Amino acid sequence: MENTKNLHLSDLQNGETGIILKVFGYGAFRKRITEMGFVKGKIVRVIKNAPLQDPVEYKIMGYNVSLRRSEAALIEVISVNETHKAEHPVFEGTLTEDRLKTTVGEKGNLINIALVGNPNCGKTTLFNYASGSHEKVGNYGGVTVDAKEATIKQNDYTLKIVDLPGTYSITEYTPEELFVRTHISENMPDVVINVIDASNLERNLFLTTQLIDMNIKVVIALNMFDELEQQGKKLNYTELGKMMGIPVVPTIAVRGKGLTELIHKTIEVYEDKDPTVRHIHINYGNAIEDSIGLIQKEIRKNIDIANRFSTRYLAIKLLENDKTTLKLLRGCVNFEAISQRSQTEIRKLEKEYGEKSETIITDAKYGFIAGALRETYTEQTLKKDTKNRNIDHFLTHKIWGFPIFIFFMWLMFQTTFTIGSFPMNWIDAGVGLLGNFISNSMPDGSLRDLIVGSSFSPIY
Ligand code: GDP
Ligand code: MG
Repeated sequence: MENTKNLHLSDLQNGETGIILKVFGYGAFRKRITEMGFVKGKIVRVIKNAPLQDPVEYKIMGYNVSLRRSEAALIEVISVNETHKAEHPVFEGTLTEDRLKTTVGEKGNLINIALVGNPNCGKTTLFNYASGSHEKVGNYGGVTVDAKEATIKQNDYTLKIVDLPGTYSITEYTPEELFVRTHISENMPDVVINVIDASNLERNLFLTTQLIDMNIKVVIALNMFDELEQQGKKLNYTELGKMMGIPVVPTIAVRGKGLTELIHKTIEVYEDKDPTVRHIHINYGNAIEDSIGLIQKEIRKNIDIANRFSTRYLAIKLLENDKTTLKLLRGCVNFEAISQRSQTEIRKLEKEYGEKSETIITDAKYGFIAGALRETYTEQTLKKDTKNRNIDHFLTHKIWGFPIFIFFMWLMFQTTFTIGSFPMNWIDAGVGLLGNFISNSMPDGSLRDLIVGSSFSPIY
């Protein structure tokens, strides 16, 4: 695929017209901007874009609006002038609806997808199967942290999938974690496919709780579903998905099962058509929630940051003493206030809980996971259990128990003697043959007597 740099609304010059492809960004900004009509397929014209000047003025849906340059940078567009110059060098007419639709359709249906999950959850297998590639990529220690990319077509959509290194968490302790984290915050994938090992739910869902904090679009590929079924465990994954606000699709990547459904679900989520998708807040408990709120209030004063990130996520990260987040916020005018507020809140929480703030948050996440699994997951090996229990019942019966015991003892003796008589006869015959052979082939002597002598006469 050609790798043209994406054009953003802020790049358009005075008088230029663009069609909106995508709106990135978070929270209040995203809400306001979409309410104003900045949605896919709409036409925007630049009224005034003076270099290095804020704000920039646009016309959309018949009225003029001013945006900050940094906000316009979060809106991806195609320039109408350019596409049409390319197609028809002298095209001067007005744009027809159809023409617009095809133009946006061709360029606007590109979905950037990132595969995120624990090591060995089957990401690469899934990636290879979906992309038809057979490359083996390992994220072993020492191997350069790398990501593989593939493009697949599905209906009218082009899906660009990136297989990221495996990671247990989104913190900053390993190069893999940092790589995944940077990819998500800088490349802003449209949808993250969170691959989960179904036979190890609790640990795998930890990463999911961090994606929930980040407030990004996620689909869960519940991989290794075959193992879950083999172990006789039951998971109401639809219900689990509803609780987390994330659709869950069971997959068996090694056999390519569920991948078509996964791709369809991903497109639905991208188009905001899946009813399961909902932004939930993991409840960290009153004390932590208060702290999050206070830190968030400081962060929100920086509109550029608030437009690009979930401020709740950043606040939680600060409570975890996360250096990467501190670095991100270093340029904020109220950086000192943010930093001090976080330190105060951390001290407050650590005093109240008697534990490191990071541990408190991790515990709360595992608490959320345990709660969600309690409602949806049974490790019942129920079928086997009931069978075993029935046999137990029978064997230890008050009246029948003893006769059954006698019966089995009898059966054991019978078996020992009946079956045992075969090898006993074989051994007899074998020893006889060997004796005959030796007595016939060995010269007379005491050694021969010693070996084949059938009886020893005691010496008196
Ligand atoms: P990654 O570390 O997440 O990239 O995981 P890999 O794709 O390397 O897979 C790890 C192992 O799990 C491999 O041996 C795969 O064959 C196996 N695997 C992947 N998907 C499935 C699945 O759905 N079911 C089962 N039983 N094994 C799988
Ligand atoms: Mg891999």
